[in-house]
Amino acid sequence: MKAVVFEKFGEAPTIQTVADPTPAQGGVVIKVEATGLCRSDWHGWMGHDDGIRLPHVPGHELAGVVVATGKQVTRWKPGERVTVPFAVGCGRCFECTSGNHQVCEHQFQPGFSAWGSFAEYVAIDHADTNLVRLPDKMEFATAASLGCRFVTSFRAIVDQGRVTPGEWVAVHGCGGVGLSAIMIASAMGANVIAIDLTDEKLDFASKIGAVATINASKTPNVVKAVKQITNGGAHMSMDALGHPTTSFNSIANLRRRGRHVQVGLMLGDHARPQIPMDKVIAFELEIRGSHGMQAYRYQAMMEMIRTGKLKPELLVGKRISLEEAPAALMAMGGFEGIGIGVVTKFQ
Ligand SMILES: [Zn+2]
Ligand SMILES: [Zn+2]
Repeated sequence: MKAVVFEKFGEAPTIQTVADPTPAQGGVVIKVEATGLCRSDWHGWMGHDDGIRLPHVPGHELAGVVVATGKQVTRWKPGERVTVPFAVGCGRCFECTSGNHQVCEHQFQPGFSAWGSFAEYVAIDHADTNLVRLPDKMEFATAASLGCRFVTSFRAIVDQGRVTPGEWVAVHGCGGVGLSAIMIASAMGANVIAIDLTDEKLDFASKIGAVATINASKTPNVVKAVKQITNGGAHMSMDALGHPTTSFNSIANLRRRGRHVQVGLMLGDHARPQIPMDKVIAFELEIRGSHGMQAYRYQAMMEMIRTGKLKPELLVGKRISLEEAPAALMAMGGFEGIGIGVVTKFQ
């Protein structure tokens, strides 16, 4: 099969012909029909992820068709259209058996702990626990765009952030994660403030549900601006970018008893950011992380998509071919264009 391969961290990946994958006993092989481009792939390529063994094939936001199944797989057969969360739970450890597959102790991560989906085929382990069937009408590109950023935002807003109607939600950063969070929080009945450095992304944020926007490049004090708009601070706030400044602002702009959820990755030099701990204590603030979402929680999200309350297809940005993927991956260190870029052509 054709795959995007990198031999060394930080060195240009190339398209290579490699052996087709075979399924593990509890796993499947999926013919990849669409795979999303994500900043996490860039982090992996840069060497920020300890789990990657070289040479490596990146890609973790995938959708496609099952073509082969391992002996122990009972729920899936060839021909079924599926997607999968990026953190694939083993189904047997304490976290999995208590329903928290997203933080499984032995998680399988395509594109990180194993070869990923920037390829014609990808092997996914623990299929019975983790595959998600696609609604007939859902396009592969839309399904691929769910796998990482949209589901992480769904969990961040609904399960970790516990957003309720009428609350103020501040979303720092309007890339794929931030725009997903804005759409989801607004569908939940919250009042959402979008914060970014570019008017273009803020205009788009308004179109998908933000009731207020702050351009941080033109606003000397973002925390003050959020407190003014919300009359005292956000109830829930999210750092969707993953930067010391946005993380700090997202905590500092909360009202008393507010909840911060960190979704943007903080790696390398950014792994230990400053936190206004004085405010965390005095205001009884909550700080939580959000790391993907369990396959069984997809159902609620899929129903909101099916009824049109959520429209992830609006967040699909550029569609490119596998040949264009190496250059696009290397460019992910900068800021993305609007929406989620997806590889949809593999030949
Ligand atoms: Zn597990
Ligand atoms: Zn991702």
